[in-house]
Amino acid sequence: MPRDMSDADAILRDIFGFDSFRPGQSEIVEAVSHGENVLAIMPTGGGKSLCFQLPALVRHGVTVVISPLIALMRDQVRGLREAGVAAGALTSANTDEENDAVWDMLHSGALKLLYLAPERLASSGTQRMLQQAGVSLIAVDEAHCVSQWGHDFRPDYLRIGELRRALDVPLAAFTATADAETQEEIVTRLFDGHAPTTFLRGFDRPNIHLMFAPKNKPREQILKFAAARKDQSGIVYCGTRAKTETLSQALNAEGHTACFYHGGMDPDARRSVEARFATEDGLIVVATVAFGMGVDKPDIRWVAHADLPKSIEAYYQEIGRAGRDGAPAETLTLYGSDDIRLRRSQIDEGLAPPERRHADHGRLNALLGLAEALECRRMTLLGYFGEADITCGNCDLCDKPAEVFDGTEAVRKALSAALRTGESFGSGHLIDILLGTKTEKVLARSHDTLPTFGVGKDLKRGEWQAVFRQMMGHDLMRPDAERHGALVMTEAARPILRGEATINLRRDSLEAANERRPQVR
Ligand code: ADP
Ligand code: ZN
Repeated sequence: MPRDMSDADAILRDIFGFDSFRPGQSEIVEAVSHGENVLAIMPTGGGKSLCFQLPALVRHGVTVVISPLIALMRDQVRGLREAGVAAGALTSANTDEENDAVWDMLHSGALKLLYLAPERLASSGTQRMLQQAGVSLIAVDEAHCVSQWGHDFRPDYLRIGELRRALDVPLAAFTATADAETQEEIVTRLFDGHAPTTFLRGFDRPNIHLMFAPKNKPREQILKFAAARKDQSGIVYCGTRAKTETLSQALNAEGHTACFYHGGMDPDARRSVEARFATEDGLIVVATVAFGMGVDKPDIRWVAHADLPKSIEAYYQEIGRAGRDGAPAETLTLYGSDDIRLRRSQIDEGLAPPERRHADHGRLNALLGLAEALECRRMTLLGYFGEADITCGNCDLCDKPAEVFDGTEAVRKALSAALRTGESFGSGHLIDILLGTKTEKVLARSHDTLPTFGVGKDLKRGEWQAVFRQMMGHDLMRPDAERHGALVMTEAARPILRGEATINLRRDSLEAANERRPQVR
């Protein structure tokens, strides 16, 4: 039994390699872990499997998972085993040896998850074995297969109710099919008509306004955002502990009441900030991501990110702390090239195995795609979580569509500067080449003799920085961690370089770059 959700957080991180729950997952995980009967309706791709896999690890004994798809079961078993979890499947696709090995693990009490094809339930042998095996939870994937009127009807699913009665354990049913009739049928057949705790929450939080802005003068940008929301409770998330302290000072100097919060503070100091935030009106907490799990304040009116979050999941979770009361709430997320570089190198330099690093890059790419989105943010965000068909009208891009221009030429110049210098330099040096600036470094390497030298004089330095940032946002170039962040072209850039694809860039981030103070380099 989990004492609290911090156990679940540790398992989420250490076993599954995710840094935060997807929308809706944590509530379901909590209910299932505590042994409630649960019906969860989540969109496809929303992350259902975690909602029974994680509770299975938290609960004693073995969890039986019933799923109609053999290939999917095998995938999940393989994934779990790679993560060090004792899992097995009994399906018609197994050899006798495989089946024997699974039975052995079950008898020895080592097995945590047993995947079962529904037709197995027809055998009285299976039922008997399960009764002796110490089953503590039944999870049913694709629970709508129990519906006789649906097109996915599986007659063997009708035996699941009987199994639940025989084992007398909680049952968690999952489906992406949300219509009321199917739900009713699931409740009748799987739960004997006793209403389970039901989760049917779309991911959309329509009262939260979404806004992103390229980072140019981050402190001023945050101060301006906060000034327009004086005396409202808000959170500013920062990438480092030091920044939480300096930024909270700056907010106080502007007449706000702000305090900072991070994992380096002693527990008493942290608790006192949590208590103040819960009870005081209009307090701003400037924090690292350490601030959040325990925060249950319904009337947080705004959340700002002074630095780009880790992933699209982390973004959703962090902005989701605003406006739980349903009243309008606002968010601002700043992003810059330095953030992208930092997040990439954190992934590359982490200890995660290669597949996981690949997935982490994917989740970061999704967030960058959202930051550089050309149309509605909410559609982009929810589309990623599998939810289509939403209306928005409550994001910066619905307020004012992004102005775009054909950036193909600029992107090709930038790519060619990188390729002609062996993909060995960061954006600063590449921009010097594009602008035709004869720095010592340029001269020392004879880069002033390259055909790309000086071909980019039509854009200013700040504008080129915005082009590079957008290129990283579209994953056309990536910093190589092993070579001090040298920019390397990705496969996605090849069609553009070959003239087979064009790319639109956002004009506003180029304009914002012009407002930038001259940079000390
Ligand atoms: P479905 O709801 O369609 O069964 P899955 O359980 O297969 O979805 O999950 C869909 C994808 O989401 C998988 O690639 C999974 O690794 C990923 N995923 C699930 N939970 C999280 C999380 N908390 N953070 C990041 N990725 C997640
Ligand atoms: Zn929108």
